[in-house]
Amino acid sequence: MKLSLKYLILSAALLSMIFTLFSSISSGYRISQQTLIENTLETNRVYAQKLANTTDVFFNMTLQTLELSSKDISSYMKGDHYSKTKLLQEADRLKKQTNTFNSVVIVAADGEILATSPQTLDVVGKLLDSTGGQEALKGKRPLISKPYLSITGRLIIFISHPIVAEDGEYLGLVGGSLYLKEANILNMILGEHFYNDGSYVYVVDEDGRIIYHQMPNRINELVSHNPVVQKLMNKESGTARVLNTQGVDMLAGYAYVPSVGWGIVSQRPAAVSLAPTSDMMNGMIVKSLPYLLISLILLSFISKLIAQPLQKLAHFTESSTENNQEKSMQKVSTWYYEAIQLKKALTYSLGFFHDRVDYFTYQSKTDPLTKLANRRTLDEQTQKWSEDGVAFSVILLDVDHFKRVNDTYGHSKGDEVLIFLAQKMKEVSREKDICCRFGGEEFVLLLHDRSGDEAYQVAEQLRMLVESTVSPCGDIITISAGIAAYPASATHLAHLFELADQCLYEAKNTGRNKSVFKQP
Ligand code: GH3
Ligand code: MG
Ligand code: MG
Repeated sequence: MKLSLKYLILSAALLSMIFTLFSSISSGYRISQQTLIENTLETNRVYAQKLANTTDVFFNMTLQTLELSSKDISSYMKGDHYSKTKLLQEADRLKKQTNTFNSVVIVAADGEILATSPQTLDVVGKLLDSTGGQEALKGKRPLISKPYLSITGRLIIFISHPIVAEDGEYLGLVGGSLYLKEANILNMILGEHFYNDGSYVYVVDEDGRIIYHQMPNRINELVSHNPVVQKLMNKESGTARVLNTQGVDMLAGYAYVPSVGWGIVSQRPAAVSLAPTSDMMNGMIVKSLPYLLISLILLSFISKLIAQPLQKLAHFTESSTENNQEKSMQKVSTWYYEAIQLKKALTYSLGFFHDRVDYFTYQSKTDPLTKLANRRTLDEQTQKWSEDGVAFSVILLDVDHFKRVNDTYGHSKGDEVLIFLAQKMKEVSREKDICCRFGGEEFVLLLHDRSGDEAYQVAEQLRMLVESTVSPCGDIITISAGIAAYPASATHLAHLFELADQCLYEAKNTGRNKSVFKQP
């Protein structure tokens, strides 16, 4: 298939348009994706940081509360002032008023549990043997324990403050437990952070163990291999794009909680964050469609305008052998430089070409000496007339003793005599008749639509005209003529000329300077 210029222009423009559209949509898509990712990471980081700060404040305040309480308690813990009731009251107050702990315990320096709240725990008088408690008794300093499993199987953290007498004697500790998997103030701070879209928050301790998660069964799981958790274990805060344990691509923000060494991670599935970009891309495509359509219409119009002059010029060049193409070509409106130049060049070359064709056509049909029609034209014309059913006559002429003219006056004078004879032939012929040089000093006069008799008259008229005129050689020359009529004398052209030749031969043989026509 040959592509036309119009479609070439159209497809090139269309391709570049689609490419531009595609690249702008795809770069828009990439930029908005990048922005969404950065925004989500930052939002999660800020959120994790906020939770970390709140958690930090909570633990510091809790320690302060326990410190205040320890000061109160110290006066009921020693000597005469010892009051079990007051200790129980204080334990209850801490549990109920602060609404911080799942349970509260006041312990003597030797580890004996002096008071608890709630009192249903039924451990008063026993030794404090929990991991967190042991650690606190040993350390004799304010402590937030690592999460550990209690005897009852609960995951617990134990927050405690030493009780010290005015004289500096270590009297024991006051502490509270938080059951990580049950409702408590810590859960309230961390809140319900998971959404239907798959976003959630989780908290790890300093060893990389999960202590808060939307799925309770994951609590206490060790996830220290997670790159985000490793950062938190290094006490760092920040953002990261990670795969979670389910292999989901997550955008995470994380923050370190200095008071307890924990890390808080807030994360959202990347796919959820990036979902709006697909909608945006679809929207962009839909919105750009009308523009694409309008551009297409405009483009096809413009490409037609560009291609049309060239197409027309090409058409005229194709049919350049026909005449008058130059005139038609002038009518082609060319409105841009290349087309104008092309039109000029084509007009010039077509003109030149036609001149040459005319010249060679004339040359091929004409005898160069006499400018009469040549034998080729004679054959064509008689063939055409016979096909068209035109009746005509032929007069075959020969100069008498022409050799003598040449011999006496020279060859060029002989030529002039031939030209002279051609002139006389024209004088006796009519518009539709054709004068030919048959060869040498022989001529044929084709008489359109005339009988043999009429032809005889014309031959005689010519013969007498020649005889009565001084020829260019300065002498009188004479001619002999043989006549035949088509189709009266012969229906075949070759036969017709044979008959005319026979008549000429007879004219020569019977004294020359005469015309012979034999009635059929
Ligand atoms: P006739 O026809 O009366 O029998 O005698 P003729 O002398 O005319 O006889 P022929 O046909 O033998 O001679 C024709 C001469 O015409 C011979 C040739 O030299 C001369 N001739 C032929 N063509 C030309 C031409 O183009 N120019 C000139 N000058 N002479 C030509
Ligand atoms: Mg001759
Ligand atoms: Mg002759």
